[in-house]
Amino acid sequence: MATQRVMDFFATRRPEGPCLVVDLDVVRDNYATYRKALPDSAIFYAVKANPAPEILRLLADLGSSFDTASVVEIEMALDAGASPDRISYGNTIKKERDIARAYALGVRLFAVDAFEEVEKIARVAPGARVFCRVLTSGAGAEWPLSRKFGCTPEMAIDVLQYAHSLGLVAAGVSFHVGSQMTDTNAWDAALADASMVFRVLEARGIQLTLVNMGGGFPTRYLKDIPAAEAYGASIHSALTRHFGNRLPRTIVEPGRGMVGNAGTIKAEVVLVSRKSADDNVRWVYLDIGKFGGLAETMDEAIRYPFVTPRDGDATGPCVVAGPTCDSADVLYEKKPYDLPLTLTVGDEIFIEATGAYTTTYSAVAFNGFPPLKAYVV
Ligand SMILES: *Cc1c(COP(=O)(O)O)cnc(C)c1O
Repeated sequence: MATQRVMDFFATRRPEGPCLVVDLDVVRDNYATYRKALPDSAIFYAVKANPAPEILRLLADLGSSFDTASVVEIEMALDAGASPDRISYGNTIKKERDIARAYALGVRLFAVDAFEEVEKIARVAPGARVFCRVLTSGAGAEWPLSRKFGCTPEMAIDVLQYAHSLGLVAAGVSFHVGSQMTDTNAWDAALADASMVFRVLEARGIQLTLVNMGGGFPTRYLKDIPAAEAYGASIHSALTRHFGNRLPRTIVEPGRGMVGNAGTIKAEVVLVSRKSADDNVRWVYLDIGKFGGLAETMDEAIRYPFVTPRDGDATGPCVVAGPTCDSADVLYEKKPYDLPLTLTVGDEIFIEATGAYTTTYSAVAFNGFPPLKAYVV
């Protein structure tokens, strides 16, 4: 639920048009929660989830490090006060000239999942530390990351050995179990793979030291989620199961879990209609849709909680859609959303738990709609 500070902002400032408000106190609480649940892991906030300068500055002040995907994100983390040794370039897909720019800015930790990426880094970032990303199944994630990132653990062994042979520091293994992961045991299989890579390379005289356990920690949307402590306990037991008493240095990279529940979007009902006189499903068109920041409704993967001024009235099924002239701009249709029958044009609604992956996904001016405005309190 939106905090009082967020609701006060909407009530007093009355911002025009759809907008996101993030409560920094909630981000602060989330950081403390992860710090406590995973006391032995370094926290690298995944900047792409929400790069608002105030959020980055707060997290930098609290001691967080940063997972970045581009030179611009690296510069944002530096501007927020993070030193380069607290920044990783975690994208496995980088132009060589961007690797060179990151190196010039002082970044020394890079992700790879392929031999050619290792060659780029060896050419322009001599002596840098690299970790190799391995594939995961993504099972149990509501927003899986598919096979786009990572290679098999067997290939990771050779990629890291190659990095070592080119004068780089083969630092370790990374993975991402998939975003909005609701299975607290999902880290186990990936940690088993990581420990296998450690053992084989140790036998070849290369001592890895780092396991980057990625993000995946969920935000509560409509359904309850396990507490951060449950993730911490499960990860800790998987680490000891697979690494025994020789625990590697570990990193976690929460994005969604760090900022998701800190944000609320205010939107407006533009039209409520039916497609025929006897249609029992209403169409509710909002002033925000897939191109205004709600891209994670793709395939209806993420179902956001809606709060309306008519809550408590009788409800009925609705297709919920955005305002643009693109037929893909429909949020929920396969599984209609129950909304009050009294909902009407001009009603202001709140879309909860929208602090992550909203502003960064919003288009610049599709159909002339401006990008999602954002405020922090
Ligand atoms: C996106 C991303 C994250 C954050 O994932 P969440 O599921 O939002 O926590 C972490 N690490 C990497 C490499 C990513 O690409």
